[in-house]
Amino acid sequence: MKITDVQVYYVRQTEVKEQCDSGQDALIVKVFTDAGITGIGEVDSSPLAVKGAIESPFSHTTACGLRELVIGEDPFETEKLWYKMYRGNVYGGRRGVGVHAMSGIDIALWDIKGKALGVPVWKLLGGGFHQEIRCYASVLFGNTPEATGALASRLKDRGFTAVKFGWDPMGRNAETDVALVREARRGLGKHPDLMIDAGLVWDAKTALQRACAFAEHNIFWLEEPLRPDDYEGYRRLSEATEIRIAAGEEESNRFSFLELMDKGKIDVVQVDLTRCGGFTEARKIASLAEDRGLPCVNHGFTTYVNIAAAIHFLNSIPNSFIMEYVAEEETTLRDHLTRQDFVAKDGYVTVPEEPGLGVELNEDGMRRFRVI
Ligand code: MG
Repeated sequence: MKITDVQVYYVRQTEVKEQCDSGQDALIVKVFTDAGITGIGEVDSSPLAVKGAIESPFSHTTACGLRELVIGEDPFETEKLWYKMYRGNVYGGRRGVGVHAMSGIDIALWDIKGKALGVPVWKLLGGGFHQEIRCYASVLFGNTPEATGALASRLKDRGFTAVKFGWDPMGRNAETDVALVREARRGLGKHPDLMIDAGLVWDAKTALQRACAFAEHNIFWLEEPLRPDDYEGYRRLSEATEIRIAAGEEESNRFSFLELMDKGKIDVVQVDLTRCGGFTEARKIASLAEDRGLPCVNHGFTTYVNIAAAIHFLNSIPNSFIMEYVAEEETTLRDHLTRQDFVAKDGYVTVPEEPGLGVELNEDGMRRFRVI
């Protein structure tokens, strides 16, 4: 079997609000083969930069668009192709957009392999740890502490036993920060796990003050309190608080995850399949985490392609225990792009048994929202 083409599709909902909700648009990747099997993938990044990284023509031996590098290759050779893409675009793509773009192609290649063999990706990866996976509902904070509390209550009523709130208005001042967490806990009640995603807002000392103040509300993890390159701050914070520190969604291959783990001493390793280099790289990151005794979880706030990839990944590694499940009430784009929607029932999603990713695009929805 040979790869014949790679196409990217930028879809975007009509109204895009100025907030940290990456589910308002999406970049979908299709990899075509001469066997008539098409693989699908996704990239959560700056969409048109990714499109450029994939579609650019050969410039020189370390700056070549990924499409040109994989056409004519065997889609089963995922390890070889990962390195071919990495090496062939290393000048501008060793971190960030280049690796993000590789993720979309790598996910699609694993989808092709599964479809060709008639088995789900998690089985190809040697997995089978779960029949269903516990989810945490992942949402942005309400505009006020009170709105956050009401939202927490609604998510609890939807059956979730763990909920994460993130980003704005966290970081405005100490009083609001603590009130947001207090009301989130009040809305959830005593038992559900509560995660807080600060959204890169503090320095290490402020983060430690907040961690101490949040402790009475029983936080399961505190996510991304610091800017991503502040490894020394992460280490100081992590060593000074009992609360687990989670990070990883800004990282784009195992080398940057190693910095977070070994220098930053984080406690929970968060891998976004659509950014980190796809399944091929995510498995290595999970293994490095396992070697250090750390749990590895997904990050994902976009479409059900990302969610499907996360399910297969989490079902294939020994050190996963929960899955991020975007539960935003207003975003509608993801509901139109795929035929499957992986509904979390009583806080759990069922692991798919269909070949490949087990998710198909809804071509009508793709056409409706396609921009380029
Ligand atoms: Mg986050």
